[in-house]
Amino acid sequence: MFTAFLIKYAEIGVKGRNRYLFEDMLVHQMKYALKKCEGQFVIHKSQGRIFVQAQGEFDFDDAVARLKRVFGISGICPVVFAEDEGFEKLCERVTAYVDQVYPDKHRTFKVNARRARKDYPLESMEINAKLGEAILHAYPEMSVDVHSPQIMLNVEIREKIYIYSEIIPGPGGMPVGTGGKAMLLLSGGIDSPVAGYMIAKRGVKLDAVYFHAPPYTSERARQKVVDLARIVAGYAGPIWLHIINFTDIQLYIHEKCPHEELTIIMRRYMMRIAEQIAKETECLGLITGESIGQVASQTMQSLVATNEVCELPVYRPLIGFDKLEIVEVANRIETFETSILPYEDCCTIFVAKHPVTKPNLKIIRRHEQNLGEEIEALVRTALETKELIVVEETK
Ligand code: ATP
Ligand code: MG
Repeated sequence: MFTAFLIKYAEIGVKGRNRYLFEDMLVHQMKYALKKCEGQFVIHKSQGRIFVQAQGEFDFDDAVARLKRVFGISGICPVVFAEDEGFEKLCERVTAYVDQVYPDKHRTFKVNARRARKDYPLESMEINAKLGEAILHAYPEMSVDVHSPQIMLNVEIREKIYIYSEIIPGPGGMPVGTGGKAMLLLSGGIDSPVAGYMIAKRGVKLDAVYFHAPPYTSERARQKVVDLARIVAGYAGPIWLHIINFTDIQLYIHEKCPHEELTIIMRRYMMRIAEQIAKETECLGLITGESIGQVASQTMQSLVATNEVCELPVYRPLIGFDKLEIVEVANRIETFETSILPYEDCCTIFVAKHPVTKPNLKIIRRHEQNLGEEIEALVRTALETKELIVVEETK
């Protein structure tokens, strides 16, 4: 019965000069989201609203599921169109709508008519009253509540007549593309996909980098990261995933530096390399899944050590989250099941038994000196042999 959606978007960011940018990006992202949905859709802006109009048959549930992943949308209202064939026909159409959408009639309602076309013979208030009467007449179990109705029945009179009452919540946030681009350090874990999701939700486009260490990390671990990127791309749009072979750098650090500092020094090189790629690809920041105190490399002292090697801001949206809260989001965005697949994301030879939890910057810097110029050559090689995959959403 529904043939269109009225898209509600948050007020934030829609004001002033940014309004067009915001709306155009939203339309762009909606088109991308619906590209693989069964059916044809026309999306158009009209009087500060965005409509998605299906052209013939379409998969309603799939269309809703896809729109629910478009940041910037606060609500999705399924709409029924009626031709303007006089007020009597409209009463029939509206009562039929109520019957179809609300099989259980024990509810309160309010009609909210809007006359966008001023040549319509009745005024909004009259339309409200008369449609209300018609509904009460057809379904005596229903009652009117003008203050907090259970059903807000919207009837908009335009060229055609739009009837809608349901609002399916959207994800909120800002349309991806309105906020620049950032480089996500994406591992196969639970945290980093959630971190990427959260920053994308603020309108930021994502690139990603994954450090793998074959043969210490498996092909399946790498595939898992690609799969995670695919799920995140369902929200953030296509992601350029850079894959860096980190093995030689890790082995070299392992050879030259104290083992308890291995993780910190390794993380410093990840940040340096990520920043280099970020700068080449016009990213305005780095994103990690770090949260204070979660592991040795995420104490405040460790964060100072990993932070100091970057000039770009490092965004850590999970910084104040507990693991349980992160898992909750991971479940909601459907990355969790993939994240907990058991493939090793790091070989045990690279993990010290007692890693430093309060690294001393001066000592870390001094030990990095042991790496000499050779490390620069290894970094260069890693960058030169980097692989790039453009990852699109799963389905
Ligand atoms: P996650 O669940 O995201 O893997 P974690 O709890 O395992 O996080 P760490 O391994 O300390 O934490 O990593 C901290 C952050 O560093 C990650 O959230 C991620 O952003 C980045 N990171 C770690 N390992 C890699 C990797 N192999 N490739 C890319 N980024 C990584
Ligand atoms: Mg990890």
